[in-house]
Amino acid sequence: MSAIEDMLSHNQQYAASFGKGSLPMPPGRKLAVVTCMDARIDTHSAFGLEEGMAHVIRNAGGRIPEAIRSLVISQELLGTEEVAIIHHVDCGMLTFTDESLRKQLSDKGMEADHVAFAPFADLDESVRVDLRHYDQSPLVRHDIPVRGFVFDVKSGKLTEVKK
Ligand code: ZN
Repeated sequence: MSAIEDMLSHNQQYAASFGKGSLPMPPGRKLAVVTCMDARIDTHSAFGLEEGMAHVIRNAGGRIPEAIRSLVISQELLGTEEVAIIHHVDCGMLTFTDESLRKQLSDKGMEADHVAFAPFADLDESVRVDLRHYDQSPLVRHDIPVRGFVFDVKSGKLTEVKK
């Protein structure tokens, strides 16, 4: 069975006993989490975030520049009042450089010289860089708590990274 077929099959069972169809759209905890798309991060069980509680904005690395559009919508239209930026141990973003990925694409006939894939070499520093990206954005709120963390996919622990 393909992964998507498997997903559809699971969803049939899920929908058959679904009981959370009347939650409000604005997140109940007024929290936005920006984190990596990594398949090992389960934001529900690791951070106690159930349906309806928080916006979870995910991309490769949990990078802030790519998340600004979503954060503006989250804050301006849906009332979130705290931001947690969460990068993680063993992130795929630590394994390549812009140059190496551009070369890989170029070998397949694709030109990506203008694309910044935003990998990083230092985990704590990447969190600080994204905290600075947030601080420098004129579109997001600067009167609310914005904190950075590293999640350890080996131990399950979340550790704060100070600016
Ligand atoms: Zn990652």
